[in-house]
Amino acid sequence: MFRASVAAGFLVAPAYVFAFAVSPPTPIQGEAILLRFPEPVSQVRVAGGDAPMVHVGTSSVALYAFGLTTRAGSYPVSWRDMHGGRATSTIFLTSRTRSSATMDIPKKLGGTTAKNAKRVVSLLEKENTKIMSLRSHTKQLWSEAFILPLLNPVVTDPYGYIRETAGAEITHKGTDYRAAVGTPVMAMNRGIVRMVRASPVYGKTIVVDHGQGLFTLYMHLSRISVSTGELIERGSVIGKSGATGYAEHPHLHVSVRLSGESVDPVAFLKLFE
Ligand SMILES: [Zn+2]
Repeated sequence: MFRASVAAGFLVAPAYVFAFAVSPPTPIQGEAILLRFPEPVSQVRVAGGDAPMVHVGTSSVALYAFGLTTRAGSYPVSWRDMHGGRATSTIFLTSRTRSSATMDIPKKLGGTTAKNAKRVVSLLEKENTKIMSLRSHTKQLWSEAFILPLLNPVVTDPYGYIRETAGAEITHKGTDYRAAVGTPVMAMNRGIVRMVRASPVYGKTIVVDHGQGLFTLYMHLSRISVSTGELIERGSVIGKSGATGYAEHPHLHVSVRLSGESVDPVAFLKLFE
């Protein structure tokens, strides 16, 4: 079942109302959305970007990600209907309340100094560039709902706030879950392992490609039990949680990326409830 509200969309011609459903009903910055149409459609575009069609169970939906820094406001939605006609409508993006907290840099990463904060930010940029350059399979590699990566998921740090550390601002673009070192971490869905790496800030990291530009990332692991290129099933154990990289305490950091945007993993999972 999808939680949805109905937004009116209008065909250019002929003049009858063509409705589609949006989940969540009022998306905010940094959230992915699902658009569900009552008849087959193709080439769905939101805000000028492609919204790939995905099949979940028996539903066919379009998936799109609003970036955390995408300006709030109205955005166009367009699609091609089964007669080949182009139809358009609009969707409204609500702004997210900005919040911040101070955070220290662990001693193992050099401690909380301005110089070190700059170094951490530059390391992060390098790691993000690497992740952004990963290719994604052109086809959807999954078919069932996304699931949580832990059996006992407790959020310790949410998505989307700014961490201030020695003059630098680092936005938390994922969700942290409580996890003692050695807790089994499961793949949130079927996909191909696209990257396995130990990096200074993200620690031991696994990037799983689900196809069509959709990735899930698992960070600060103590152990990785998959290899690059491996096809993995939903719920399979891919590693164990830890405290490697920029982690003051053991936890699991999860990121969900779609079309280059890191979206709120908790809100993303709700799309499939
Ligand atoms: Zn985190």
